[in-house]
Amino acid sequence: MSDYDVIIIGSGAGGGTLARHLAPSGKKILLLERGGWLPREPQNWSAGDVFVNNRYVSPDTWYDADGKPFQPQVHYYVGGATKLYGAALYRMRKEDFGELQHHGGISPAWPIPYEEMEPYYSKAEQLYQVHGARGEDPTEPPASAPYPFPAVSHEPRIQQLSDDFAAAGLHPFHAPCGVMLNEANMPYSNCVRCSTCDGFPCLVHAKSDAEVLGVRPALEHENVTLLTGATAVKLSTNSGGTAVTEVVVERDGAKEAYSAEIVVVSAGAANTAKLLLASAGDKHPNGLANGSDQVGRNYMFHDSQAVLALSKEPNNTVFQKTLGVNDYYFAGEAWEFPMGNIQMVGKSVADMYRGEQPLMTKLAPTFSLAEVADHAIDFWLSSEDLPLPDNRVSLDGDGNVVLNYKSTNDAARDRLFKQLRSLLGHLGMQEHHLIPRWAYLENKIPVAGVAHQAGTCRFGSDPATSALNTDCRAHEVDNLYVVDTSFFPSIAAVNPALTAMANAVRVGDHLLERLGANAG
Ligand SMILES: Cc1cc2nc3c(=O)[nH]c(=O)nc-3n(C[C@H](O)[C@H](O)[C@H](O)COP(=O)(O)OP(=O)(O)OC[C@H]3O[C@@H](n4cnc5c(N)ncnc54)[C@H](O)[C@@H]3O)c2cc1C
Ligand code: SF4
Repeated sequence: MSDYDVIIIGSGAGGGTLARHLAPSGKKILLLERGGWLPREPQNWSAGDVFVNNRYVSPDTWYDADGKPFQPQVHYYVGGATKLYGAALYRMRKEDFGELQHHGGISPAWPIPYEEMEPYYSKAEQLYQVHGARGEDPTEPPASAPYPFPAVSHEPRIQQLSDDFAAAGLHPFHAPCGVMLNEANMPYSNCVRCSTCDGFPCLVHAKSDAEVLGVRPALEHENVTLLTGATAVKLSTNSGGTAVTEVVVERDGAKEAYSAEIVVVSAGAANTAKLLLASAGDKHPNGLANGSDQVGRNYMFHDSQAVLALSKEPNNTVFQKTLGVNDYYFAGEAWEFPMGNIQMVGKSVADMYRGEQPLMTKLAPTFSLAEVADHAIDFWLSSEDLPLPDNRVSLDGDGNVVLNYKSTNDAARDRLFKQLRSLLGHLGMQEHHLIPRWAYLENKIPVAGVAHQAGTCRFGSDPATSALNTDCRAHEVDNLYVVDTSFFPSIAAVNPALTAMANAVRVGDHLLERLGANAG
């Protein structure tokens, strides 16, 4: 007799959403989270504390391919990485579910079509209270329901930017945002529309993160138990290796073991691979569920670039992340391959900038840091990172994460950068100058920037080339599932969280059926 019906390891976008979806069924659920509750404190909204001093980056040490240790930009909290995320909640494009030829290689097809994920995207948009406007973005996939809330309005400088993009022949759209903003009735709005959202925790719990809209609603059901500070370190199986019988956990310096009919791992792409690899046994010598040798491989994290342009007019925008442009998503001017997505990133402020400002001096020699901040318009460019078997998470002799990563599809990323740079003159900005974030921000993001990590446990129909089947169940272990971004066979060029949330609901429906439960 098991202790629980379902154990979920990790409470982020995948695990937190699954907990909420299963909670009303009355099934006994244990949610294991290695972190604690992210403290609500004034520092939540301090750029210096968050961006410069990395107050909410959780201590951990990973190693690069040369064995050099680094601190990954991870956030081990109830709600996982969504506590700090920008809450841009995009659907993948319909075409992203098929095979796409990129300049740098092939983006493989998913084993299920967009149509199968579509109802779950609609459900996830409801759960996470997404604000958006359908019909503006020509690459938008078909949707069975409208956005549950109206789009977040542009502030004047961003509206001007939108108008200028449109005048240049592009199709700017209102970005899908997970913030609980009620512009029609601000006295009753949870969200106060502040400047410290993207990359910051929300002090007033108005961001649609997996703690606020996943874990907390799940815990309203007495059949759900959350253990914080509980790190899953090993999954033990029966003698045939066909089912997980025990989840071994380290908590308060001691080892504990829990059992369940179903075990779902959702620890984030690197830590899920770590747990499975660390759970090798007689029947699974290369790691649990790793007969395909795919566990840990195909690590992806987006070819993302945060870049700063200088507006000729001051940019007084407070909440900047309201605009997107997908005209170059599948191809561009004189370029037949996909480039990616252009969106805004939270507005940079002087506190974030590096003291010595090397490129900034070249760009605007007469500007002080404060003037640069006043005129900065910050973009986030995402190109697709392609899955390579050798881009992988493995473990060293002491069980530490080793991340072997080489960038992919660089030409698409460079092309998107140049494309935006070529438009600056039409957008009321200083021409030619687009500065990458590493050149001006205090915190740099090399391999340590793992925010969009995905792909280490890809799902598929063929057990020889995938770790999970199309229900995200391990091909080789009957009661083991994975619902974080590990299951992605490709990462597309839009932000990943909504897809993880939607898939968690999809897998949740399958689990309810398997457990003979109803949705409650
Ligand atoms: C600064 C930042 C901005 C971002 N902006 C966006 C955005 O705007 N839009 C978007 O779509 N995405 C964004 N992302 C990415 C998004 O947050 C992630 O893609 C998403 O949270 C991944 O979900 P997950 O379930 O795979 O992992 P996570 O959300 O990271 O959850 C994993 C959880 O597992 C826990 N855990 C790890 N190991 C163990 C263990 N052994 N035992 C128990 N628990 C464990 C972790 O503490 C964590 O809570 C952003 C991320 C960051 C960091
Ligand atoms: S903009 Fe809204 S959701 Fe974002 S941190 Fe501020 S109050 Fe919270």
